[in-house]
Amino acid sequence: MQGICLLGATGSIGQSTLDIISLHPDKFTLVSASANENVDRMAEICHRFKPQRAVMGSENARDQLASKCQGLPTSFEWGAEALDSIAADAEVDQVMAAIMGFAGLKPTLAGIRAGKRILLANKESLVTAGKLFMDEIAKHDVVLLPIDSEHNAIYQSLPQSTAGAHKKDVSKIILTASGGPFRTWSLDNMATVTPEQACKHPNWSMGQKISIDSATLMNKGLELIEACWLFDVTPNDVDVVVHPESIIHSMVSYVDGSVLAQMGNPDMKIPIAYGMSWPDRVETSVAPLSLVDIARLNFEAPDLVRFPNLKLAADAWFTGGTAMAVLNAANEVAVAAFLKRQIGFLDIARVNALVLADANIVTVNALEDVFEADQYSRRLALDVITRGQFL
Ligand code: NAD
Ligand code: MG
Repeated sequence: MQGICLLGATGSIGQSTLDIISLHPDKFTLVSASANENVDRMAEICHRFKPQRAVMGSENARDQLASKCQGLPTSFEWGAEALDSIAADAEVDQVMAAIMGFAGLKPTLAGIRAGKRILLANKESLVTAGKLFMDEIAKHDVVLLPIDSEHNAIYQSLPQSTAGAHKKDVSKIILTASGGPFRTWSLDNMATVTPEQACKHPNWSMGQKISIDSATLMNKGLELIEACWLFDVTPNDVDVVVHPESIIHSMVSYVDGSVLAQMGNPDMKIPIAYGMSWPDRVETSVAPLSLVDIARLNFEAPDLVRFPNLKLAADAWFTGGTAMAVLNAANEVAVAAFLKRQIGFLDIARVNALVLADANIVTVNALEDVFEADQYSRRLALDVITRGQFL
């Protein structure tokens, strides 16, 4: 029986993880769960799964949750320390890191330092802390399984379980992208995009922030950096290919001309179940892939003029140091401002570019450097937005 700590239980990845736990109660049990504000959904989760511990983002949310869950055996807690503590709890075998954004970094590190299997959905934590994150993984001899569908596909298509071990045989990583809802739109039309339109992804049902990132291709930019850290490569070793059907989830190209791909219907339950059951496999209830029904798979190059975020991410990687934390923070602020209708869709990439160009990038020697860069870049991005500097 594997004990699961589910960070970000009320989100989209949280839901799919709970689906897999429900399908296999003989294999997985929910030991603890966290959510930021969504008391009602968290109360449903507590009633259904009866975790030992539940952590909310504020004292108020914790109190509300506790009053909705009277009689349950759960301990109701709140705040950053409680979050770190559930990730490191002795009863936990696996930590599903599914908090949205940079906020996921600290508890994920707590799980790593406690030697738990890490199921990494929260790409922002790896993107921002990069080498320090991977050093902690190595130091604590932790099994890190990528949950992001593309990285999960790459992991499955690499020669064996330890990413990087047969690197000499790999010639390219091919990172696929759906292209998002505005793949074929003109820049003029993209300028008018609303949050509602941007949140409607053609193939995947996801949280708001990653949906917007998918629409601006910042998600692919973050994933490019994520792939570089995970598989010890640089952006020069990764080709991004737009594949609108999202059936091939990514590929690995070998020196002999072989290309291995992982395919499946676009449903996050597949990579989640892979991570939870690795090195075995379990059923997911996802419909079998019918290639005859799909009939055609299409591919095209990404358009860096309409989607400059992808280029910004590669630039940030080559700049190194705190550049990736700076870009990620600027993007989190810009996406939040777009969702509040304070800036337009195309302004997201403009804010990101301005902040990355203006920021003072420094070497990352310790985790504090990453947290400082995050705070600094958030202030810079807010300033750029308030002053309308990007117009
Ligand atoms: P979501 O918005 O649906 O859920 C986010 C979860 O994190 C919620 O439970 C929320 O309560 C919690 N949360 C948000 N802000 C928080 C904070 N400041 N402190 C503590 N908890 C907080 O997001 P999602 O779509 O499930 O994505 C979660 C992570 O997984 C993201 O990093 C995303 O990039 C990654 N991911 C998601 C998908 C997907 O299909 N949804 C695919 C690949 C990767
Ligand atoms: Mg992905």
